[in-house]
Amino acid sequence: MQNFLVKDPNFSIIVPGPCNAQCSFCFWKQQIIADFYLLKLQNTLNNIPKEFTQISLTGGEPCLSYFLIPILQTIDKKRFPKVVLTTNGTSLFRVLEKHSLLIKDKIKYINISRHHYIDNNNRKIFGTESVPDKFEIKKAINLAKNLGIETTINCVISEKTMEQDIYSMIGFVHEVGAKNICFRKQHGSLEPTEIEKCFSKHYPIITEGGCPVCRSKLQKILGTNVSWKASSIEPSKEGDGIFEAVFHPNGNLTADWNGNIELNFNDEDNMNKKVLAKIADALISIGNELKNLAEDNNEVEKSNDSEDLVNFPKYDDNDFPSFSDLKKEIPKKTVKGRASGFPEYDGCYPAGDKHC
Ligand code: SF4
Repeated sequence: MQNFLVKDPNFSIIVPGPCNAQCSFCFWKQQIIADFYLLKLQNTLNNIPKEFTQISLTGGEPCLSYFLIPILQTIDKKRFPKVVLTTNGTSLFRVLEKHSLLIKDKIKYINISRHHYIDNNNRKIFGTESVPDKFEIKKAINLAKNLGIETTINCVISEKTMEQDIYSMIGFVHEVGAKNICFRKQHGSLEPTEIEKCFSKHYPIITEGGCPVCRSKLQKILGTNVSWKASSIEPSKEGDGIFEAVFHPNGNLTADWNGNIELNFNDEDNMNKKVLAKIADALISIGNELKNLAEDNNEVEKSNDSEDLVNFPKYDDNDFPSFSDLKKEIPKKTVKGRASGFPEYDGCYPAGDKHC
């Protein structure tokens, strides 16, 4: 049995699909999607140890993924009562509106990555015009609230973040109607930034906690729940045990985000039997169909039913945004010396959870 080093280890699902942004601090890499992806995920959800009760849906940008809805359908809410969706907000309102019942049923919290209180600066940090502006975010938060889902604004900070940036971000939280804000230090050491130290002196600390690889502190500032978080880049390297599990688009389950330390809680035999049973069912149904078609003297067309054997999502969402359209909007201007081509910006660097 594996050694769990935290009380509530997090199970993150990197939702397969694209991202429309190009944040300079991002370490997400697009991966090949496994054959039988949903079946593998289902098998992992069935077999993951009981210590895991919370799921974090991350990406890429989950709201641009065809897999988000089938993944939610796969999650058993009694087994995983805390499901958190982390998004940069693109297409969030559309997803909430279109799948409101499912989302109300399965998602408990939404984290929206927001890099700056001014829309234009925020777009520059995301490296795209396609992230939502303040009014779109407000609309999505309002809809989430009506569905009973609490929203947190996630914001990456650096050593250059100023006191005024923090107050302005808290003002932004009030304006868009979110409940909480999380200031996350860019991955690296657990040491608090100067700005965190400064606010710790002036406002009472409600709770403080962490583990060898992460640290968090909660304060109430101007009526808003403000948390400060820091974590090491790759938690699994810091100790001999499991802090979290990450399910990758390629179907691997690992204890790290790079996908190097494999975990295996799966019942492989059982999964193989299920895959074979599905293939057998599909072949029988294809055979029957061909027979019927031949008997009717109709032209036999190639069957698309092979997709059924992996429960591949049948997504007929006409409003789904075209990813190529989103990509077209990415500004071409870059600044010399920044490897990612990310525009120079010296202020507050808000963003998201692990990846955002
Ligand atoms: S940090 Fe998140 S939003 Fe930014 S590029 Fe990476 S995956 Fe996309």
